[in-house]
Amino acid sequence: MSAEFSLINQYFTRPTSNTVLGIGDDAALLQVAAGNQLAISTDMSVVGTHFFPDAAPYDIGWKSLAVNISDMAAMGANPKWATLSIALPDANEAWLAAFSTGFFDCANAFNVDLIGGDTTRGTLAINVTIMGEVPIGKAITRGNAQLGDDIWISGSLGQAALGLGHLQGNMVMEKDVLSTCLLSLHHPQPRISLGLALREIANSCIDISDGLLADLSHILKASSSTTSNKGATLALDKIPCLASVKARIQEPSIQQAILAGGDDYELCFTAAPNQRDTLSKLAEQLDLALTRIGTINESGKLSIILNDEPLNITHLGYEHFA
Ligand code: ADP
Ligand code: MG
Repeated sequence: MSAEFSLINQYFTRPTSNTVLGIGDDAALLQVAAGNQLAISTDMSVVGTHFFPDAAPYDIGWKSLAVNISDMAAMGANPKWATLSIALPDANEAWLAAFSTGFFDCANAFNVDLIGGDTTRGTLAINVTIMGEVPIGKAITRGNAQLGDDIWISGSLGQAALGLGHLQGNMVMEKDVLSTCLLSLHHPQPRISLGLALREIANSCIDISDGLLADLSHILKASSSTTSNKGATLALDKIPCLASVKARIQEPSIQQAILAGGDDYELCFTAAPNQRDTLSKLAEQLDLALTRIGTINESGKLSIILNDEPLNITHLGYEHFA
């Protein structure tokens, strides 16, 4: 791309606050604080797969970073640095201006420095790598859920999937509900303050990107051993969602949005029952709903209950979780 350097200068070079040497050299230089480990994660977004070709570039910019920051939250890591590799079909300056504004609004909200990347011509695709710090031994992994742990969820679920359903033309909603759902889909809020607080509280944690059942089953699998095959019981009616969604809880498409809809970027975590008081105080402190939705058991299966009755989820295509 001929104007590559001026594009990088104009749209992607901003002052840094956590970085020894940022954009412009052959490599960036970082200093990880003493006693910390480097947490690193990467996520790629491709047009047609992760967003529609006509999606607002501001939203693409925000979300491509936000979903990466969410992975830091899920580990209990503090996000600090990001790289951005982007393939663009052409140097559309209006698109780039809006994209970089969305990206940096998210970066500034979480004090993340953009420290490098790559810019090339091609089908629109964006790869972000996020790096953060976590005190040695304090990261919250997926693999340490304990028998008898409560299963918790932050915020509410289903909105992003319902917003997507609307854009795909198979979900009808009232106007104000729709705007909440589209905001969840386009402007996810990574739960960093929660993730940092959970270092001392949670036994395991994951962010909900693929849907609650899929992501919780990652915790169950990672936490199982030859002597203990972890399972879980979840109460669908306890999972927070919009009131108008709750009113339709018997509808399979609504159950699907809550249980299998991805893109919510809330945290699902497990903690010992003696952490309940601490967690309800934390919810108040963070002004963020934290809700107990189930328990870790030794069944090796994921079972759902709706109003005290077992819910058969096979018709929703969840057989592979059983
Ligand atoms: P090199 O040829 O050494 O790979 P580049 O010409 O690709 O360097 O990039 C020049 C500088 O700009 C590097 O510091 C690189 O990290 C940075 N950079 C390139 N593209 C981006 C981008 N999309 N966002 C942030 N930094 C970028
Ligand atoms: Mg390069």
